[in-house]
Amino acid sequence: MIDYSDKKIHEVECSFCNEKITCPEDMLDSDKHACYSCFNELKDKLSEDEKSKIHVDMPMSDMADMLLDTMIEIAYPEFWKENKSKIIQMSKKEIAEEMFAAGASAVVEMMMHAHENPEDVFS
Ligand SMILES: [Zn+2]
Repeated sequence: MIDYSDKKIHEVECSFCNEKITCPEDMLDSDKHACYSCFNELKDKLSEDEKSKIHVDMPMSDMADMLLDTMIEIAYPEFWKENKSKIIQMSKKEIAEEMFAAGASAVVEMMMHAHENPEDVFS
């Protein structure tokens, strides 16, 4: 299990509206930072590649939804397609193992951090 308690959270400015947002230390090197409202406005105009370089300060509930509905599907379409029905049945630990195996460690880390109760997300 990944322990986030000692991860540093920094304050950064949204690259688009300059609002203060928070950013975990390991995301500080992102090309741009965006608050969630700016990202929502921009997301349809950006390519997947551009989006992948932007750190978005996203509310946890929305992050979990997006991880499941969009992010995994975009980043790992084959994995998602093959495992979607299975994923819904799996425990958090099993999901972690499956996704680490698929090379989705970053996604899993965020998902673990975002939700203590993945069952709520999957329902
Ligand atoms: Zn903004």
